[in-house]
Amino acid sequence: MSLTDMIASACAATPDFGPGHVWLAGAGPGHPRYLTLEVADALAKCDCVVYDALVSAEVLALAGTSELHFAGKRGGKPSATQDSITAMLIELARAGRKVLRLKGGDPFVFGRGGEEAEALARASIPFRILPGLTSSLAALASAHIPVTMRGISRSITLATGHAAGTPDDLDWRALARVGEPIIVYMGLKMIGEISRLLMEGGLSPETPTAVLMSATTPDERLLVATLATVETEVQRQDFAAPALIVIGDIVSMRDVLNTGDGP
Ligand code: SAH
Repeated sequence: MSLTDMIASACAATPDFGPGHVWLAGAGPGHPRYLTLEVADALAKCDCVVYDALVSAEVLALAGTSELHFAGKRGGKPSATQDSITAMLIELARAGRKVLRLKGGDPFVFGRGGEEAEALARASIPFRILPGLTSSLAALASAHIPVTMRGISRSITLATGHAAGTPDDLDWRALARVGEPIIVYMGLKMIGEISRLLMEGGLSPETPTAVLMSATTPDERLLVATLATVETEVQRQDFAAPALIVIGDIVSMRDVLNTGDGP
């Protein structure tokens, strides 16, 4: 069976991508090989794509002749507001377009997909949610760090570092007390504050900590440090967003599993 036939067969029972519909989809971590068949199918069927900064050029290239609308942050310019993005989705849908709203990773993991779906529901626009592979799961697998492992971890926390150091922040000290691995999205800028709070909460300064930058893309890089040294290492090695921080003993498993050819 050719890949095209496989996609057609896998997606045969999905609802029609009708004019005026919005499909809210996750493009995976970056490289197009991590697209789901359903999202590959949607790229072929849509007539416009509204995409975020984390959607790679290689994925967008699969959109063929569809119209591309950028709705993200680029080069430090202020990002499009959430209101203006949802207004664009509604406007395109009401104009009878088949709108593919494409986000990095999974649309519901720190992707504001929930807010967009809510706005579409309120505006009575027909929509579907197409899951994607969230960046952390792909990044850890390719770095040979098992997300869970018997005897080492029983749960995993996906946290955002976005609000670190603000009154809206989550309780890092409480997370430290749980003693299970933590994966931080959007945490690079505030890594110093986050690691300080986790150590105050009782995590050992020696806790293995990895930073995975631009996973699955040509800019992919990885560093392994400890909770006490990670901030300095991030600065010294000039790591930049997008990056994930992984804190916990699962990081040490990389040494054991590293006979493969991970990054
Ligand atoms: N919905 C996305 C997350 C959006 S929040 C998902 O499910 O992955 C944006 C954050 O995701 C970035 O700041 C970074 O922490 C993380 N991220 C997304 N893609 C990444 C990649 N290829 N490599 C490393 N981190 C990534």
